[in-house]
Amino acid sequence: MKVLLVYAHPEPRSLNGALRDFAVSRLRGNGHEVEVSDLYAMGWKAVLDAGDSLAPRASARFDPSEDARRAYETGMQRADIAREQEKLLWADALILQFPLWWFSMPAIMKGWVERVYACGFAYGVGEHSDTHWGDRYGEGTLAGKRAMLVVTAGGWESHYAPRGINGPIGDLLFPIQHGTLFYPGFQVLPPFAVYRAGRMDGARFARVRAELGQRLDSMWTTAPIPFRRQNGGAYEIPSLALRADLAPGRSGLGIHVGEQAAAS
Ligand code: FAD
Repeated sequence: MKVLLVYAHPEPRSLNGALRDFAVSRLRGNGHEVEVSDLYAMGWKAVLDAGDSLAPRASARFDPSEDARRAYETGMQRADIAREQEKLLWADALILQFPLWWFSMPAIMKGWVERVYACGFAYGVGEHSDTHWGDRYGEGTLAGKRAMLVVTAGGWESHYAPRGINGPIGDLLFPIQHGTLFYPGFQVLPPFAVYRAGRMDGARFARVRAELGQRLDSMWTTAPIPFRRQNGGAYEIPSLALRADLAPGRSGLGIHVGEQAAAS
C-alpha cells in the first residue's frame, strides 16, 4: 500500500519528530511505500492567495474558489499545490500528524488543506443542484482511501473525555475528521492521540510507540468511524438535515456518526 504522511512540527528533535520517524520506519518495514510531506522542512506556503494561480485574471477581483478551480482545471496551479494533489491521488492512505495547537492543527497544516484542497479537486465535485449537493461526505475525489490523525496534546485524557473541560476529543477533531477528511471521500479511522505529551519518559515513549505501531499495522483492517454519507439516504432533501427518525431527539455533532461508532 502507499501512505502519504503529512507532518507539521517545526522541530525534528521533538516528540512528534520521533513518532514520525518511527511511523515511517514501521510502515516501510511492513512493506508499504511512504511519502512524507514535512511542511516546515518544505517551507510550505501556508496562505491561500492570488499567487496560487500561475495565470491570475489581471482585471478581475480575486475569487478564492473560482480562481482555484480555473487554475486546477487548466493546469495553472502553482507546482507545490499540484504536487501535493498528485501525492493524495497516489496514496491509498493519508496520515495527518501534528501537535494539537489551540484545539486544532497548526496553521501551516491548515494552509496545506486550504491550498491543496482546490475547488474541483476536493470540493465542488459532482452535480450541484437543489437535490444533489455534490459528491462529498463519503464520496468524491478521494473516495476509497483511508485516513487517520496522529495527534499529540498537552492536556490529560480526562480533559478530552465526554464531560472533560476541553470538550470531547471527537468533537474537537470533527472539523478535521468529518469536514476535511470525510468530505472529499476518505474513510476516517479513529484518531491516535497522545495526551499529556509533555510528560514523557523513556518507558512511556516505548509504550506510545508500541501502541502507534499496532495502529499502523491495522490501518487496513480497522473499522472506520461510520460517519453518515450525505447521499446515502440519511439526510432530508434539500435541507440536508438528518432524518427525524435517526438519532431521534438528539442534536450535536455526534448525530452524524452512525450507530456502530456511537456504541463503541
Ligand atoms: P515535545 O515538546 O518535543 O516533547 C514532549 C515530551 O516528550 C518532552 O518531555 C520530551 O522530552 C519528550 N520526548 C521528545 N522526544 C522523545 C523521545 N524520542 N523519546 C522519549 N521522550 C521524548 N495542548 C492541548 O492539549 N491543547 C491545546 O489546545 C494546545 N495548544 C497549544 C498551542 C501552542 C501554540 C503550543 C505551543 C502548545 C499547545 N498545546 C496544547 C500543547 C501541545 O499540544 C504539546 O506541547 C505538543 O503536543 C507536544 O508535542 P511535541 O512534539 O511538541 O513534544
